[in-house]
Amino acid sequence: MSDIIEQIPAFLRELLIKEYPNDAERIFRGFVRRPVTLRANTLKATAEEVADALAQMRLSFCRMPWYGDAFLLSGADGRAIAESPLYREGKIYLQSLSSMLPPLFLVPKAGESVLDMTAAPGGKTTQLSALSGGKALITACEKDKIRFERLKFNLARQGAGRVNAMQVDALKLDGFFRFDKILLDAPCSGSGTLTLGERTKISPELVKNCARTQKLLLKKGLGLLKKGGVLLYSTCSVLKEENEAAVAFALSQGATLLPLAPIGDIPLLPSLAGTVTVCPDEIFEGFFLAMLQK
Ligand code: SAM
Repeated sequence: MSDIIEQIPAFLRELLIKEYPNDAERIFRGFVRRPVTLRANTLKATAEEVADALAQMRLSFCRMPWYGDAFLLSGADGRAIAESPLYREGKIYLQSLSSMLPPLFLVPKAGESVLDMTAAPGGKTTQLSALSGGKALITACEKDKIRFERLKFNLARQGAGRVNAMQVDALKLDGFFRFDKILLDAPCSGSGTLTLGERTKISPELVKNCARTQKLLLKKGLGLLKKGGVLLYSTCSVLKEENEAAVAFALSQGATLLPLAPIGDIPLLPSLAGTVTVCPDEIFEGFFLAMLQK
C-alpha cells in the first residue's frame, strides 16, 4: 500500500485522508487502469445486436445489471474496439460506467427541453438523446472550439438528430432560455479518475479554479431552469469542495435537493444525504451526482 500512496500527489493524499478518514485507502486502491466499458447506442442498434457483434468479435464481456446498455469487456484493447465497424458506425460509444449515471438519473423524455451545459465530447449528450428515443429537444453547449468539433462529430456518428449544438460559453447563454431539465457535468479536477503511473495535472490551484467555475455554472444553470425543473450536477471528482460545497452553494441560491436513490451494486463513499459519491475501484471511476430542483 505504501508504494501506491507515494505515487499520489501529497496534497491530494492528505485531503482525501481528511475528507474520508475511513475510506481513503479504498480510494487510493481505486486509482487504477480500468477495463474497457461501452454503451450500446440504442439510436442505432439494440443492446442485443451489440452483444451479438461483440461475441462475433470473440470478445468476452458482461452487461451491467443496473443498465442493460452498459457493457464491461475483459482483456479488450480500447484502440482495437475503436477500429471496429461497430464503433465506426456509431452503434457503440466508449464510455466509463460512472459517466453513464447522470443521464440515467435525469431520465429525459420525449418533448422535454434539455440543456447539456458543458457537453463535449458528447458521451452524455448522445446518451440523453438515446434514452428519450431521440425525442427530447436537446441543446448542447461547449465553449472549446476543438472539443466542440468533436462533439459535433460524435452527435453525427451516433445519429443524435434532434440536438442543437452550440459553440458557446454556457455562462453567456441568453437569460430568456428556459429548460425542463439541465445536465451540468461540470469541468472538474478529475480527482476521481486518477490512474497511478500516469501524469496528472491536479493541484490545489486547479481544485480552487474548478470550484469557482462550478459555482458560476450552477448559478447560471439554475437561472435557466423552468420553475419546478431539475438540474443534475455531476463531476468526476470526489473532493468535497467540488461536490458538497457546490450543492450547498446551489441550496443557498434557493434550489432544493432531490434525493437520489443509489442504483445497483455501485461502490459508494459517504456523501451528503441525498447525493451520490461513487468510490473509484477496479471498474468505476470516482464520481459525484446531485439532483437540484428550482
Ligand atoms: N459531458 C461531457 C461528456 O460526457 O462527454 C464531458 C464534459 S467535461 C467534464 C466538461 C466540458 O465543459 C469540457 O469540454 C469543457 O471544455 C467544457 N466547458 C467548461 N466551461 C464551459 C463553459 N463555461 N461553457 C461551455 N462549456 C464549458
